[in-house]
Amino acid sequence: MGVVNLTKGLLRMGDCIDHGQKGTGLGYGSARYPTLKVKGSVRMHRAVYCLHNGLRLEDIAEQVVMHTCDNARCINPEHLRLGSQRENMLDMRNKGRGVGNIRYTLEQKRLAAALVKSGLSVSAASRTCGVGRVTIINFMKEGQVNG
Ligand SMILES: [Zn+2]
Repeated sequence: MGVVNLTKGLLRMGDCIDHGQKGTGLGYGSARYPTLKVKGSVRMHRAVYCLHNGLRLEDIAEQVVMHTCDNARCINPEHLRLGSQRENMLDMRNKGRGVGNIRYTLEQKRLAAALVKSGLSVSAASRTCGVGRVTIINFMKEGQVNG
């Protein structure tokens, strides 16, 4: 699997590229990247950013890789940009994602709801999409009300 393939063939500009993993926490994927000469797994969006821009992970150790698309599952290098931790906090706050006020993207919620409708349990959809169970349930209720 690989970023090499990603950047050569599968790259679709403008669209988010899902890393295809379950994802952890906010939905980041992680993988081993031998080309970056690091041991253990690396958060995929960070690794992709480095590979795409010809950087090493050490080069961005003090900085965060932000998603301009606000989709933590996305590894499209065109949607990634470097920012400071402070910038990231401000960005999160602007998007209403500050600590204690977690919001999810519409895409995430739609995907989770679709999974539940297709027969997955709410818990499984929650883990898969990184969306809280209550959020999924509420989203599906809203969806019914709004048709
Ligand atoms: Zn994206």
